Amino acid sequence: DEAIHSDSWCVRYRTDLEDKYNRRLAITTELKRALASQQNELSMVYQPKVDLRTMKVCSMEALIRWNNSALGFVPPDEFITIAEQAGLIEQVTTWVMQQTIADLAYFRAKGYEFTVAMNLSTQDIQNKVLLRKLVALLTQEGLSPEALELEITESDLVADASLAIENLNELTARGFHFAIDDFGTGYSSLAYLKNLPVTTIKIDKSFILALASDENDQQIVHTVLSLASVFNLKVVAEGVEDVASLEILKEWGCDIAQGYFISRPLNRSDLENWLQNTPFGE
Ligand code: C2E
Ligand code: MG
Ligand code: MG
Ligand code: MG
Repeated sequence: DEAIHSDSWCVRYRTDLEDKYNRRLAITTELKRALASQQNELSMVYQPKVDLRTMKVCSMEALIRWNNSALGFVPPDEFITIAEQAGLIEQVTTWVMQQTIADLAYFRAKGYEFTVAMNLSTQDIQNKVLLRKLVALLTQEGLSPEALELEITESDLVADASLAIENLNELTARGFHFAIDDFGTGYSSLAYLKNLPVTTIKIDKSFILALASDENDQQIVHTVLSLASVFNLKVVAEGVEDVASLEILKEWGCDIAQGYFISRPLNRSDLENWLQNTPFGE
């Protein structure tokens, strides 16, 4: 308490903008250090996705975690954005690709057949060098592109995105699959996506978290599901936190569910345990 009070003079007179600037600077500095050091500050966790037709695990979303001694846990939403602005995203994504593909190979060697979904940021899908690295890493591990799904957000494809779309087409021709993440939060329509090499949409969790009780969300989700079936797109619902939402989604023909009701994101060894004990096991 004493420490907090002696600090409060500075804190009170600092503007919001300065706070943001300092936080961003600290994240940039520490992230650079984390990427260069071997101290395991960064790690990957995996969140299961369940096929609602079979009620079995079909895929895992790979999500990065960062625990820093000075900053504590830094949410990926926050540091990924900063990494992009600071020119560090290529390094971050390279690290994510290495870990994720190694872990995927590990699970394949154990006989698991689920795919793994990796998040790419806007800059990543414009970066040919990085995408070539991705292909090389998979080849090295003897994995085919079909084993991987790539999640990108709507906004990545909206403004001035010809290079991104060219890269998407190229990777699709090689056998990669793309999913549109956080669907419903941006501006693109399903009709627009129809013209892109996208096979899957992930309905943003903001429409799913309260699905069982919120009639607006129900209407939105129902509409998205009907349209998606017209356009032949597979639908993943993220943010499924209760069995009631899961049942609704199943009844309405949603293909895949992901959320805390099924499992929180888990590190590799916790995931291995989970896979052996879950009713959703392969
Ligand atoms: P996202 O790709 O939309 O990932 C789903 C987020 O929803 C994850 O948050 C996940 O933990 C959370 N989530 C899943 N189920 C539930 C649920 O039932 N309830 C609630 N409340 N949340 C749920 P997380 O891990 O904090 O990641 C946030 C975002 O950071 C991701 O959103 C993604 O955009 C970005 N991100 C995470 N890892 C990576 C990465 O390796 N590379 C890139 N480029 N971005 C990443
Ligand atoms: Mg995602
Ligand atoms: Mg999402
Ligand atoms: Mg997101």
